[in-house]
Amino acid sequence: MNGSGRLDAVAWARRLGRGEARAVDLARAVAARVRAVDPDVHAYLAWDEEALVKAAEEADAARAAARAGPFAGLPTAVKDNLTTVDFPTTCGSRILEGYRPPYDATAVRRLRAAGLALVGKTNMDEFAMGSSTEHSAFGPTRNPLAPDRVPGGSSGGSAAAVAAGMCLWALGSDTGGSVRQPAAYCGVVGIKPTYGRVSRYGLVAFASSLDQVGTLTASVRDGAALLDIVAGHDPMDATSAAVPAGGCLAAAEEGLSQGEAAWRGVRVGLVREALGGGVDGAVAARVEEAARALEGAGARLVEVSLPTLDVALSAYYLVATAEASSNLARFDGVRYGLRRQAATAADTHRRSRGAGFGPEVKRRILLGTYALSRGYYDAYYVRAQKARTRVREDLLSALGECDVLVTPTAPDLPFGLGERTADPLAMYAADLLTVPASLAGFPALSVPAGRVDGLPVGMQLMGRPFAEAALVRLGAAWEAMRPWELPVWAEGGEGR
Ligand code: GLN
Repeated sequence: MNGSGRLDAVAWARRLGRGEARAVDLARAVAARVRAVDPDVHAYLAWDEEALVKAAEEADAARAAARAGPFAGLPTAVKDNLTTVDFPTTCGSRILEGYRPPYDATAVRRLRAAGLALVGKTNMDEFAMGSSTEHSAFGPTRNPLAPDRVPGGSSGGSAAAVAAGMCLWALGSDTGGSVRQPAAYCGVVGIKPTYGRVSRYGLVAFASSLDQVGTLTASVRDGAALLDIVAGHDPMDATSAAVPAGGCLAAAEEGLSQGEAAWRGVRVGLVREALGGGVDGAVAARVEEAARALEGAGARLVEVSLPTLDVALSAYYLVATAEASSNLARFDGVRYGLRRQAATAADTHRRSRGAGFGPEVKRRILLGTYALSRGYYDAYYVRAQKARTRVREDLLSALGECDVLVTPTAPDLPFGLGERTADPLAMYAADLLTVPASLAGFPALSVPAGRVDGLPVGMQLMGRPFAEAALVRLGAAWEAMRPWELPVWAEGGEGR
């Protein structure tokens, strides 16, 4: 509970642990909710009620035999770019339609090891390229809070599933904002961990130097608990960090019980450029108001500058497309998914890729290939890498003057379905404030910070590498100060 009178996933786990509820009833209630709500929201690409109920029954039995972990049986959703042996993994793309991977992603393996019950796989922009989930080849997801608006993206299905009570929590992935921005648009919590914190083994690669698995949850401590479950070194991912993980839930609980006191003396860096041009005035005003509330709690506001904010977005779209063009070469109509057979191998590749990839993916492959091509490589790719280094230096120096950086998560409110699909640059603009932490590899958290015209606004907290525990402690303290409404799941009610 966080003050709204409803339960978060951690509270549910404790009820289960005390024998006050059964996982199987929770699973059935969640399934009923998916049946009732998902035909409109379309958060799931695949789900399996029978398997969900069975996993919950197993958790109940394990708990009765005192063999269950604390979170066993909690209904959990997984973004469709994490491989799963029991569901197709499509990445929202025709090219992988019906593809069944032979192995689980490490993050998924860890969910299962914790005894979590999988609901299904969530909708996403094709290969995680987008900010609205409208680039899914299987149709868009709607924002459960405002059905004519987008849920954000690319983890829009995971964010919407949490917001609408169609799972207790979810995994997503974040390359340039894909966990944080949909969390902000759907009024839930999103954590993008430090690059290397969670294994990328089994996360279908978009831009390998940026991709991270992240969490979408109702409360900050839920995000902390889910991160504790999936984080940690993995020999199967050479970029996974050999840094001790865990301790986030304890840190979040501490922040939650301290409330305002946790913010006393904390130096809060307000990023000047993130409250100015290109940012919706009402969104900026909400976050400034939140910052003043923190000041009221005893935090010290420090104005800091990220002079490279204006080039971060361009650098991101060059680095990310360059890596994507190389990563997506593996979808050749031979090894995975869709094949359009032709007389020659080259024609088979061409026809399969032509039919399998959607327009945004093709645009990215073209842009990335161009940026890497001879004669343009230095002008685009190398310059973008240099800009990336500067962004990282800027963030580090800003973090030298404060303990945590605060910005809006997205520069705008959830926009209307169809409003930006014809204008790629307008779509890319939604990532303005999330790409710096991605380029730098730093952890960032998005928490609800109130509403504008009934639509949620997210506040982003950024910290130093591997400082997730510090971030969730402060985030949970903020939640204690300004509790937001949690989704309705098991207990019926109106839902939202
Ligand atoms: N919206 C950004 C993009 O389209 C970020 C996507 C992501 O984080 N996967 O690239």
